Amino acid sequence: MREGLSGEPRFRTIIEPFRIHSVEPIALTTREQREVVLERARFNLFSLQASDVTIDLLTDSGTGALSTRQWAGMMQGDESYAGSRSYQRFRDTVSSITGFPEVIPTHQGRAAERILFSVTVREGDIVPSNTHFDTTRANVEYQGAEARDLVIAEGRDTQSEHPFKGNMDVAALEETISEVGADRIPLVMVTVTNNSGGGQPVSLANLRDVRQVCDRHSIPLVLDACRFAENSWFIREREQGYEDASPLEIAREMFALADGATMSAKKDGMSNIGGFLAVRDPDLALKSRNLLILTEGFPTYGGMAGYDLEAVAQGLWEALDEDYLRYRIRSTAYLADLAEEAGMPTVRPPGGHAVYLDAVRFLPHVPPARYPAQALACALYVEGGVHGVEIGSVMFGKPQPDGTEIPAPMELVRLAIPRRTYTQSHIDYVGEVISAVVARADELTGLRMVEQAPWLRHFTAAFAPA
Ligand SMILES: *Cc1c(COP(=O)(O)O)cnc(C)c1O
Repeated sequence: MREGLSGEPRFRTIIEPFRIHSVEPIALTTREQREVVLERARFNLFSLQASDVTIDLLTDSGTGALSTRQWAGMMQGDESYAGSRSYQRFRDTVSSITGFPEVIPTHQGRAAERILFSVTVREGDIVPSNTHFDTTRANVEYQGAEARDLVIAEGRDTQSEHPFKGNMDVAALEETISEVGADRIPLVMVTVTNNSGGGQPVSLANLRDVRQVCDRHSIPLVLDACRFAENSWFIREREQGYEDASPLEIAREMFALADGATMSAKKDGMSNIGGFLAVRDPDLALKSRNLLILTEGFPTYGGMAGYDLEAVAQGLWEALDEDYLRYRIRSTAYLADLAEEAGMPTVRPPGGHAVYLDAVRFLPHVPPARYPAQALACALYVEGGVHGVEIGSVMFGKPQPDGTEIPAPMELVRLAIPRRTYTQSHIDYVGEVISAVVARADELTGLRMVEQAPWLRHFTAAFAPA
């Protein structure tokens, strides 16, 4: 992958900074097989069997490869119910990176969200964020509160090259606070990087501004920190004054501006499962732990095995490795380059963990009510067994009582890159599949939704060709 980042020779390939230690075969299928499979899945890619997928870009969540050091640590996992050595290592690592003294292990990020919102959010509250991730939004709404997205205008413009499109609109935050009153805002969330907004980073300057507003109104600030390491790398690459800072130093500065964080260790924890809630406030930690014991597990393991705690403790350090982050961010940009060269519009600039294809611009003849991004995701599967995910009106459309719905602001297909898993030739293949779909754009007419659940409907909805 040829490089264009500052300070690197342009002629040198950024290689995967690892070699392969164990291999897993992948399925090579025919178009006819994939057509049958997709129909059986009722055009919902969440219903596919993994064995029907050639390149799995559904998510970067928990799908990465572990390192030799993680496996070694896992062999030393301490499965003691209380006071496990592995928990101490986990807690010390999280505290060292985040500066938060209270570390509550959970089985995933959403468990941390549910616990946090259960103890802080009441019915009728508003929780502002740059953009809520789907589980965050659903957990806020489950408490009877409103999840409000306040990303800057550039963050909604798929073509803006703003370096920090994940930033929160600070003026809109102020307006929200004066509109509803600070006592109805139990906390402000900022998602780094902004997953649902295109994997776009948030600057330290923006975090500082948000912090100031929160301070003025005594509102806690909580980071959705799933991709804190990738966000740190973007700050180093793009924010003035941080060119020479290490990703760890930048991460510490980010966390220092917040009162707590929710984390899915399946992302920048470089692990297959796990997460945590980390906070400063001992009272909040106490309430959270009480709920943790009821629903997740004892406070020194949460929802994780001792070996999971070891994998995360090691993985968090590996996520901050400079060689890894340089390769990680460059390999994502490389796929975006391939897509653009093929004539597929993407969200600019590419995000940290994923490339987002812009279905509105690619399929202008398919209206939002016919789910253009879902149609594009299905086409990528039929064409080459590539599994992406719709982030558009299937995920975020709002059904109305009269049977119509308010469409999502964007219709995207996310191609998320699992960490340390695919090589450059796999990504070259994905580029070829995108190219073939571009050639058939006229044939894509969209889908009708024929079944849906009241929450997180994208996981189970069924479709038929429009
Ligand atoms: C994945 C993710 C979550 C939820 O984490 P899970 O481990 O899947 O429960 C929350 N926020 C963001 C930004 C995420 O990417």
